Amino acid sequence: MNSVDAKPNVKFHPVTILSNPEIAPNAFLLSYKRDFTFRAGQVLGLALQPTDDARLYSIANGENDENVSILYNIKPGGKLTPSLAALKPGDTLWITVPFGSYQGAAEPAFWIAAGTGIAPFMSMHRSGMGSNKTLIHGSRTVDSFFFSEILINDFGSRYVRCCSQQEGEGVYHGRVTQYLQETEDLPEDQKYYLCGSAEMVVECREILLGKGIPYNHIVAEIYF
Ligand SMILES: Cc1cc2nc3c(=O)[nH]c(=O)nc-3n(C[C@H](O)[C@H](O)[C@H](O)COP(=O)(O)OP(=O)(O)OC[C@H]3O[C@@H](n4cnc5c(N)ncnc54)[C@H](O)[C@@H]3O)c2cc1C
Repeated sequence: MNSVDAKPNVKFHPVTILSNPEIAPNAFLLSYKRDFTFRAGQVLGLALQPTDDARLYSIANGENDENVSILYNIKPGGKLTPSLAALKPGDTLWITVPFGSYQGAAEPAFWIAAGTGIAPFMSMHRSGMGSNKTLIHGSRTVDSFFFSEILINDFGSRYVRCCSQQEGEGVYHGRVTQYLQETEDLPEDQKYYLCGSAEMVVECREILLGKGIPYNHIVAEIYF
């Protein structure tokens, strides 16, 4: 592997983009050929040049899938994502090896995501861990429930879409936090995996603690 020491402790290597379509307004799914092993839930660093600071992204594909998938939003004014969205098949991107202790497990659990925070749960599901999970996904608009066709089919009633700004068929109208507040009898013996912004994670954790879920049953990944 052709690695480059870009920053202290950061090693990048180049990959060639296979596809980078816009799959929902302002949201893109980038892919390139997988050349490493990883555990579902882990992240990697991306940069346009090996001298840039890496931005972190959850891996959205399964552990055995041929290609790596990265789901991302354009952040207006952001250093990486506006340029990332302009990349075409055949362009080069610099990546780090995967890392991170936020990983899926076989036991029954709740997966709770906001926005692109669905990515690690897609990876866990595609790695065979979804059959005993309840998946709650929050989005502002109904067109941004990424992968919803697959998830409706695979999870059925264990997949809850919470839409804060629009109403839609089969969709709970309200934020994830409101859904959790209204849900009774959340099992105390299961783990609750949270993934999203700091605000979302803090608010969800408060609600879960208030409902009697032990602190060590709440596992969070914060996208900052
Ligand atoms: C563990 C982890 C996993 C993540 N996984 C994902 C993922 O799977 N998908 C995903 O989409 N994101 C993910 N993120 C977020 C991602 O790493 C980036 O932060 C995000 O994509 C924005 O990158 P950017 O370079 O475009 O924006 P940045 O340059 O980092 O800017 C972000 C925002 O801050 C504003 N900003 C920048 N500098 C300033 C300033 N000086 N003053 C005021 N405002 C400023 C920008 O306008 C922009 O709106 C993850 C983050 C972490 C920590």
